[in-house]
Parts: sequence; structure tokens; C-alpha cells
Amino acid sequence: MVVYNFSAGPAVLPQEVLKKAQAEFLNYAGSGMSVMELSHRAPEFDHIIKEAESLLRELMGIPDNYKVLFLQGGASTQFSMIPLNLALGKKAYYHVAGSWGKKAYTEAVLLSKTLPFEPILLASSEDSNFDRVPSFDSSAIDPQAAYVHLTTNNTIEGTAIYEMPETNGVPIVADMSSNILAAQYRVEDFGLIYAGAQKNIGPAGVTIVIIREDLINTMPALSSMLDYKVQVDNVSLYNTPPTFGIYMSKLVFEHVKSLGGVAKMAELNRHKSGLLYDYIDASAFYQNPVKNPEDRSVANIPFTTSSAHLDKLFCQEAEAAGFKNIKGHRSVGGMRASLYNAFPLEGVEALLNFMKEFEEAHSGD
Ligand SMILES: *Cc1c(COP(=O)(O)O)cnc(C)c1O
Repeated sequence: MVVYNFSAGPAVLPQEVLKKAQAEFLNYAGSGMSVMELSHRAPEFDHIIKEAESLLRELMGIPDNYKVLFLQGGASTQFSMIPLNLALGKKAYYHVAGSWGKKAYTEAVLLSKTLPFEPILLASSEDSNFDRVPSFDSSAIDPQAAYVHLTTNNTIEGTAIYEMPETNGVPIVADMSSNILAAQYRVEDFGLIYAGAQKNIGPAGVTIVIIREDLINTMPALSSMLDYKVQVDNVSLYNTPPTFGIYMSKLVFEHVKSLGGVAKMAELNRHKSGLLYDYIDASAFYQNPVKNPEDRSVANIPFTTSSAHLDKLFCQEAEAAGFKNIKGHRSVGGMRASLYNAFPLEGVEALLNFMKEFEEAHSGD
């Protein structure tokens, strides 16, 4: 049976990349060792991490005055690392358009109970279940603030921000976990970008941080592992980095480049998600909770039928037919199709056929 993996993360990886990793698994580049067995100080690994950085710089158009880090701890560790390094003695604004943005804000509030800085909720759409990207008045932002934090793609709720908002000159810090390399952004529009790798880049365990040099702390942070300056000075090798994950990320970067880069990925993703949105919009049976088309994510598409009972049946039958991990997040229910870069167009077409058959069988229920 053909299996299509709609998981929101860890997520589908390109078959070509998995095959390449398999071919090199026991003997990397003639070393007689697996990548997992190499020292992180070995010349072979030095080459891998440098290549990974250089490919990511090329793919995203990262200017020279930004540093690239490969860290651990997931995007969630950045929720505290960012205020710890950037916000002390200042205000830090949070734009909350989804559950992950809310977590970032909540972590900052927790940290502010022991450290001197002021997290401020700039805008939130929580009162309407995060069904839209909330707007805000940029003139209300103190120009001396450390940053405005936002999430470019709300993985759980299926909304996204494609045009960066006006922030009164304050740097934007963005959680790009679920649409890095899947939509086109100008790195110059951000002070800091971070992303867990497990959605569009590689296996779980690698966290990408892209930071503008002038934002790197000059004072030591609370702990060396959580200190951007320490990580930058040690080029992500302060301690043992997630070597195999960085190697897999490098293979994915090579793959994305060979397909035509981020512009091509963005185009393919708009096409894939467009097929699904068009079908849902034309159907009286399925609904997408995000009403404003401009707010819709091309990466994660939540949808429901007319009842929780039918949603449950849909998930059961879909799972049995090879459409894996299509159940919506437990906080929103229904279904969710995550169509990351590596998710094939054929999988979307197969899902549409399945949805049509299910609709025909149950629209009179
Ligand atoms: C998945 C996700 C996270 C959490 O990432 P971890 O690497 O598990 O900490 C944070 N933010 C967004 C937008 C996500 O999609």
C-alpha cells in the first residue's frame, strides 16, 4: 500500500534524501565510519556543517551580517533563549496568532518573574480560536523595545504571515519552524529567525537560528549553552552538536537546491495547498476554519466535516487507506493536512479523491 504521511512534525522527508543517507549509512565518504560515528571535530564533519551552513545561506539569501547556528533543544528552547539574550532591561512584544506563539509569550512571562524585562502582548486572536492573524497598531510599539516576536506559520491553526508587518523600527524575531524553506521571506526583514528542523528540513533534534550580528549579546547570558555569543564564537560546536541531524539537513538543502530553491518550493506548495483549499471552499461538506484567504497557511491545512462523529470516521477510514497522521491537533480536532516541501503532489490528488468518495458516501448522514 502507498502511504502518504500528513504528519505535522516530525514529518515526511524526500525519498531521494533517505536513499542517499541509506547508501552512505555504513561508510561515509570513504571514512569507513557512519556519520554518527564521526567525531564532531573530524574533518569530514567540519565539511558537513560548513556545507550545511553555506547551502542554507544560499537557499535563504542570508546576508553576511547574519550568523547561522545549528543548536539543540528545539524551537521551544528558543522561547527562553531569545528573551534571555535579547530582552534584559527592555520591553519585548509578542504577536500571538496561534498556540506556539502563545507558548513563546507564556515562557517569556515566566522568565520575567525572575529576570528584569517586560513581555507585552501586542495582539492575540485567541478569543476567536486563532482563526485569523490579528492586526495591531505599530505606533503603539516602543521603538526602544528589544523585539517583536511572531510566528510566520501557525502549524496547529493553519494561518500564516507572508508580508512582515510594520514594527516602528523594532527588529522582528520569528518562529519559522513550520514554513522555513517552504515560503519566501527576506532575511533582512528579521532580526532573528529560528526553526526546529523536523518539519521542513530534517529529523528532530536540530534547531536553526539565524541572528543579525548587532543583536548578539555582549554581556554573558545566564548559561553558556543558552548564550548566543558562546554559540557563535564556537560556530555551533561549543558542545557536541546533533551531528547526524545536521548531516541530514545538509542533504535536504542539497535536494531543495537541485529542485530549484525556495522560490520553486513556494510555488509548488501554493499549488498543492491551492488544490485542497479550492476543493474545500467549493464543498458544502468540508470546512476550513480560516476565513480570510490571505491568512491561510500553504503548509498546514486544517479542515472538518459537519460533525465530530464524521471527523472521527474520516480519520479512521483515511488511516486505513494509507493517509497517515491526518488527525487534527488535539486542541482543535477535525483533520489537518500538513503539506511540507517533501509532501508529493500525488498525495494531495489521492487525498482529494478520498475526500470526494467520503463526501458522496456521507453527505446525506
Ligand atoms: C513544532 C513547532 C514548535 C515546537 O518545536 P520543538 O522543536 O518541538 O520545540 C514551535 N513553533 C512552531 C511554529 C512549531 O510548528
